[in-house]
Amino acid sequence: MTDYSAIKTTLLDKQKELSDRLQADQAPEEPKDELGLDESAQRWEASEIKNGLDDEAAQELNQVNEALARLDADEYGYCKSCGNQIGSARLEAMPFATLCIDCAESAEDNADLEAFDPNEY
Ligand SMILES: [Zn+2]
Repeated sequence: MTDYSAIKTTLLDKQKELSDRLQADQAPEEPKDELGLDESAQRWEASEIKNGLDDEAAQELNQVNEALARLDADEYGYCKSCGNQIGSARLEAMPFATLCIDCAESAEDNADLEAFDPNEY
């Protein structure tokens, strides 16, 4: 059995980093009363951008959590699609990859596939 302890550490670090980031963003907002209209508009735009980043972080956190669950279940490192072992180089580059390189490539060819993930390569 392959030793994934280094990858597990990476995933746990990532999990902490992402949940810290998401929690920090949930801090109560400052009162808006003192802001002029222009400033409010600018702030609104900034928060739109931030929400986009939060979505990305939340999505990544899901992937990290899933990878950790697969590690605990001894399912980690196997392709979700064909069941072959995912190369260790690929896992090091992308610890939460769930598809082997072959399946990821065919997923990219088929954008309709539900499992398609632009982060896979
Ligand atoms: Zn595969």
